[in-house]
Amino acid sequence: MPANERNLHPVNLAPDWSPDSWRTRTALQMPVYPDAGELARVQDELHALPPLVTSWEIMALKQQLAEAQEGRRFLLQGGDCAENFADCNSAVISNRLKVLLQMSLVLVHGLRLPVVRVGRFAGQYAKPRSADTESRDGTTLPTYRGDMVNAPEFTAAARIPDPRRMVKAHARSAMTMNFVRSLIDGGFADLHHPEYWDLGWVGHSPLAEDYQRMVGNIGEAVRFMETLSGTEVHNLNRVDFFTSHEALLLPYEEAFTRQVPRQWGWFNLSTHFPWIGMRTAAIGGAHAEYFRGIRNPIAVKVGPTVAPDELLRLIDLLNPDDEPGRLSLICRMGAPRVADRLPPLLDAVKRDGRRVLWICDPMHGNTESTSNGYKTRRFDNIRSEIEQTFDLHVAAGTRLGGVHLELTGEDVTECTGGARDLGEIDLERAYRSSVDPRLNYEQSLEIAMAIVRKQAQ
Ligand code: PEP
Ligand code: MN
Repeated sequence: MPANERNLHPVNLAPDWSPDSWRTRTALQMPVYPDAGELARVQDELHALPPLVTSWEIMALKQQLAEAQEGRRFLLQGGDCAENFADCNSAVISNRLKVLLQMSLVLVHGLRLPVVRVGRFAGQYAKPRSADTESRDGTTLPTYRGDMVNAPEFTAAARIPDPRRMVKAHARSAMTMNFVRSLIDGGFADLHHPEYWDLGWVGHSPLAEDYQRMVGNIGEAVRFMETLSGTEVHNLNRVDFFTSHEALLLPYEEAFTRQVPRQWGWFNLSTHFPWIGMRTAAIGGAHAEYFRGIRNPIAVKVGPTVAPDELLRLIDLLNPDDEPGRLSLICRMGAPRVADRLPPLLDAVKRDGRRVLWICDPMHGNTESTSNGYKTRRFDNIRSEIEQTFDLHVAAGTRLGGVHLELTGEDVTECTGGARDLGEIDLERAYRSSVDPRLNYEQSLEIAMAIVRKQAQ
């Protein structure tokens, strides 16, 4: 059946599912809103607002992810741990896009594969937390749960969950999306002009020379192809860019779960590629219930405590028809544990013949606290988890299809190590994250180069 016709014929609609059926299950990590009436009014308001993405884009991404599952593409997914309202500005958005474009250029060149580019942005405003409350100097307050829920300042008023923040998050997401789309449509991502992606402060980077050599090689290849064909090579002047976020705050996600003309089923139209976080991935939980019914490609974070049979049951629930491109597993084990915890999962999924895209998140299993009180991650652990993961897939006869990174285009000092060998004392200079530590521009590019080096071995 042609793909467009297949869209008209449901394979297997999720039984007993509706956009609000998650409400019959336990929803972890949800804020307690003081005024239920206000929450309901905000949901109605959101429901009437236009969506942020279309079903065509969502289906196009699903197709690209299906190709990545077959080893014909590599996924690069990255962005902030949490976006915040104050950083919704031109510099932060375009710098983040520049880093992702530069990394994807390194990956395309080194892996000789098209890259699926997915940002952790335009909706990454809600955060799961390991504790419900936070204490400082004898005062205990509810934790900060992301700008979509409450504010980070340590005052009782700031920490009260406010549903109107969801409306603001939708607006900020739309602005982010609009700016990214205009930059790309306007030629910002044109391979003929990688100099558009230069970031001012990196002129003297230890990595600059390697990167410039690569850009030079690509420029030559482009000019060579153009000379051969006598015309401009098309498709080099624009790229696809997709969005993703952790679909944590279910009242928000439900409001953007819509039906569209000439397509069966339901789509989450707030993002192309939502994922379930590690803390909310229980099989009987509200998040798994919500995700099983939407048609987007979806991902699940898989941590070191997940047992193989549990993972297989989750796959059965989320992708019962073994649909190509539907399900990605983002593994985040930690460098010291990955060799122990990942292989049983790879073996079980392979033995069961299930189709998934394996993604490595080398950030979340490698978080630690320094003696001067910062939450950080060591560059060597991040690189090591990726390198070990490549080897473990080779040994298991499976394939690593992508990476998931927390990064920024800003000159921050949040992760230690890397080409400039940032130490704990450097974290004091430019630590800006209110949640998890991100790779800065140089460290991100260095990870892309490490992936290419590893694959060339
Ligand atoms: C995250 O991606 O920011 C996150 C909270 O990850 P995890 O669910 O894997 O802990
Ligand atoms: Mn994080």
